Amino acid sequence: MACIFCQIIEGKIPSYKVYEDDNVYAFLDITQGTKGHTLVIPKKHIENLYALDDTIAKEVFSAVPKVANALKKAFNPIGLNLINNNDKPHQTVFHFHVHLIPRYPDDGMQLSTLNHQETLTQSDYIEIQDAIKRAFK
Ligand code: 5GP
Ligand code: ZN
Repeated sequence: MACIFCQIIEGKIPSYKVYEDDNVYAFLDITQGTKGHTLVIPKKHIENLYALDDTIAKEVFSAVPKVANALKKAFNPIGLNLINNNDKPHQTVFHFHVHLIPRYPDDGMQLSTLNHQETLTQSDYIEIQDAIKRAFK
């Protein structure tokens, strides 16, 4: 099945575009979590974070603060959340996208707060650290 975000970029499906450059497209999420909820995507079809190469990562992430600052100027939110879902449980569109969600007092937006592991020992941290460091090789 054709990718819905590719179809948006191609103009086959309408969208409320707020920003575009040669490589990046940003548009209002059709389900506005809060006023101004925007998705920033690469124009090239990339499934998710794991598949981003250096060039596209730079292109997308350099657009993110531009859009964030426009949202800040437009709506004067008290804050803004940056969210990106990869695979389970939350990714529903498999074209990489960053959610920018401006936050307002009592906006009712329900984002789970980070759960903190209660007590990890020093060796737990070292084990976790080693596993990640090994994975770079
Ligand atoms: P995910 O759950 O993959 O992180 O986010 C996908 C987002 O894409 C959802 O928030 C959903 O509302 C949005 N979305 C899905 N289909 C469309 C569409 O056709 N147009 C727009 N503008 N947003 C869409
Ligand atoms: Zn796509």
